[in-house]
Amino acid sequence: MSQPSQKIENVIIIGSGPAGLTSAIYTSRANLSPLCIEGEEAGGQLMTTTDVENFPGFPKGVMGPELMQITREQASRFGTRFITKNVSKVDFSSRPFKVWVGDDLYQSHSIIVSTGASAKYLGLERETELIGRGVSACATCDGAFFKDVEVAIVGGGDSAMEEANFLTRFASKVYIVHRRESFRASKIMADRAMNNPKIEVLWNTVVDEILGENQVEALRLKNLQSGETYEKKLEGLFVAIGHKPNTDVFKGLLEMDDVGYLITKDKSTYTSVEGVFAAGDVADSVYRQAVTAAGTGCMAAIDCERWLESQGH
Ligand code: NAP
Repeated sequence: MSQPSQKIENVIIIGSGPAGLTSAIYTSRANLSPLCIEGEEAGGQLMTTTDVENFPGFPKGVMGPELMQITREQASRFGTRFITKNVSKVDFSSRPFKVWVGDDLYQSHSIIVSTGASAKYLGLERETELIGRGVSACATCDGAFFKDVEVAIVGGGDSAMEEANFLTRFASKVYIVHRRESFRASKIMADRAMNNPKIEVLWNTVVDEILGENQVEALRLKNLQSGETYEKKLEGLFVAIGHKPNTDVFKGLLEMDDVGYLITKDKSTYTSVEGVFAAGDVADSVYRQAVTAAGTGCMAAIDCERWLESQGH
């Protein structure tokens, strides 16, 4: 075990997607000299997307990894320090708060948690390799790339219904592939999808295999009732089977909902522990956009700065 570092940071930011980096820009410009523990997969979900066309200020779009790289440079410019490792343990039971990266202990007067959420995938063989080449977990982000072609979306919850409807603005046909014979989605959302003439539901069906050389060209589908498998030619596979917030390390320490999303106090980024703030998808199961994550990152930085001041730091 290495010795505890004597230094007590003003703020440690855990996570480095749009929320964490925006917190870093704001807290570094406020002279708080933040330490950002960015994680081994720094940059968050945008690192696995291609063109981002809906982030304000980029009329021609921007590649997800590039957007994160320039945002990181912006945070660096004002003095944010980065550690490119994962947090292994935290102790928020007393102040200063303690954060471990392996054996190394860091202490801080305040914390901003922005560890994000990860889209769940199906676990099929070619799935990860074809992300950005026909496979997507975000219709809002990628739907516009599928004009006048057929696509499928997997899932039976509100996300799948909402995204299926959204996809019909672009795609010529949208298949909802659902493993059961009834939807989990609310009735109003399910009805809207089922009444959409461009949507066809494939009940009791799962994706067995993704087919295609360098991009999605077809799916091998399996009907779970008959056991029959068949191929369907299409160009996009959207996965909408839920997200998992990255909060395992905070279990039992910060208040979270049943799924694991951090709970923040009304209209703020305050968590259940005073001095610990949450921003981005880790506390948002609803909007989940880069721009909303950046917005709450700004809120967390302002909440944190004011709180530190109130504590005399
Ligand atoms: P969800 O409600 O958990 O639904 C996930 C769906 O994916 C379920 O239908 C599930 O099937 C299916 N699924 C899970 N794992 C699968 C697998 N391995 N293979 C095939 N299918 C699989 O998730 P969500 O739709 O993302 O919604 C999350 C929360 O956000 C919900 O509370 C929802 O109401 C809310 N939301 C609300 C709105 C809105 O009101 N506008 C929009 C989006 C989301 P089973 O049903 O068989 O378990």
